Amino acid sequence: FVDEFRDPQAVKATLAQIHQQLERVDPARKPLQIMEVCGGHTHAIFKFALGQLLPDGIEFVHGPGCPVCVLPRGRIDDAITLAQQHDVMLCSYGDALRVPGDLGSLQDAKARGADIRVVYSPLDALALARQHPERQVVFFALGFETTAPATALTLQQAKREGIENFSVLCHHITIGPPLRAILDDPGIRIDGFIGPGHVSMITGERVYDFIAEQYNKPLVIAGFEPLDLLQALAMVVAQIADGDSRIDNQYRRAVHSDGNPVAQQAMAEVFQTAPQSDWRGLGSIPHSGLMLTEAFAPWDAERRFGLDRRSVAEPEGCGCAAVLRGLMKPNQCALFGTACQPQTPVGALMVSSEGACAAYYQYRAEN
Ligand code: SF4
Repeated sequence: FVDEFRDPQAVKATLAQIHQQLERVDPARKPLQIMEVCGGHTHAIFKFALGQLLPDGIEFVHGPGCPVCVLPRGRIDDAITLAQQHDVMLCSYGDALRVPGDLGSLQDAKARGADIRVVYSPLDALALARQHPERQVVFFALGFETTAPATALTLQQAKREGIENFSVLCHHITIGPPLRAILDDPGIRIDGFIGPGHVSMITGERVYDFIAEQYNKPLVIAGFEPLDLLQALAMVVAQIADGDSRIDNQYRRAVHSDGNPVAQQAMAEVFQTAPQSDWRGLGSIPHSGLMLTEAFAPWDAERRFGLDRRSVAEPEGCGCAAVLRGLMKPNQCALFGTACQPQTPVGALMVSSEGACAAYYQYRAEN
């Protein structure tokens, strides 16, 4: 499933389709603003220079689907505060360690002596809890519906085994509410969406219905190869040209229309919707995050350690909020490539390879 999705002849034929469909669109609507929701798509668009292949009447807008990029500074500070408690071993994914908060990054806290470990899965953190019964092992859980099932299954395992020195600092978020917040923002114009592939494997298609039904916008779920993205774009532009708004799925080889029911069931048992969650660049969005249910409250790090969530403003000059809302390109940020670079990120969009600023920095230099 790679070579056939990078075939130059197929790419040329799909580009020709995009041109044809675009000619049918009312000129007053151009350039069409198409948001690729997922950070993996942002990365692929830059890696394969797809933006440079497109006609002038289409612009990609980079969306909020990179979980590290939307991690608010306050949550990093919360994690650092926990990690600095003497009996805590804090575990998380590698990218999370480099995201700057007001108190520095988790990497900085580790350099100052805090016991912070990189793990590849929450099960690795649970294994550390078994190996170190004298320590409080906290897993800093983040990400969309893609990673939430792994956290849910790990918590179920911890409960089954009665592992009491394990807990989760939960910053799982869901994809629907930020898209609604973007659509409700009168300052943002989006004509259609390329829907995320990995999240949709879990959620299925119906989670996006409100976009078509309430906002009259098309969304097409896409895979991550160049032809996937161009085919999805052709499907979006065709809907716009026809005056349609449907949820469609280009990535049927991986995304079932109902998603993954086993993962959904695990999530439903372990998580409930939180009333509010903070997002970097998008502010506080109602019902956009997940918190542990009462049945899993004993494994909730916030309750165990009496943590008060911090809210922290973005640093001066940081353009992350405007980039995340599609109002500014990364290279228009005053800090891009100077104060803010991959080795010295000021904002989270420069940290992960899925971040729009990191992709601009890496690939614009080469293209
Ligand atoms: Fe944020 Fe840095 Fe990108 Fe500016 S260059 S928007 S500060 S990540």
